[in-house]
Amino acid sequence: MIIRVSEIPAEGLRVERLEAFPNPFPDPSWTLEALSLFVEKDGVEVLVTGRLAARVPLTCSRCLEAFTFRVIAEVGTRFAPRPFGRAEEQSELTADDLELDFYAGDLLELDRLIHTETVLRLPMKPLCRDECRGLCPVCGGNRNATPCACEVRLPDLRLAALKTLAERMTPR
Ligand SMILES: [Zn+2]
Ligand SMILES: [Zn+2]
Repeated sequence: MIIRVSEIPAEGLRVERLEAFPNPFPDPSWTLEALSLFVEKDGVEVLVTGRLAARVPLTCSRCLEAFTFRVIAEVGTRFAPRPFGRAEEQSELTADDLELDFYAGDLLELDRLIHTETVLRLPMKPLCRDECRGLCPVCGGNRNATPCACEVRLPDLRLAALKTLAERMTPR
């Protein structure tokens, strides 16, 4: 959905209909589940606030199984007209703690905002669940599905070494 900044009414614009976003993500396997955004003008700038929910298929970094990650994002972004001579900006924080982004010409792309806000919430190391037991380093089996009887001694030694190191580094 692209909003014409000049057509945003003075009382603001509420955006909640999913039908307005047939392809919010470049990757069609991602799903936008719900959104409630409020778009309002502040001089030449535009504030977009609200929240959204999305589902993203990921691969667990421990057991390598596919799973669906649910994103709930609070949105708070201030859009300023793109200044001449400045290309893509990294998001910065403004005085009111909103993220700063830019719109070009008269057009504000809400799809791009939804994509950015979703990507920001994806974990660096995805886990299918907090207590995922991962793959056995000996037989390679998925320890969530089949507990194996492999003896794993090496990590114990490593752990002991780490403990000694930690003790040495703890200031007394
Ligand atoms: Zn896992
Ligand atoms: Zn094993």
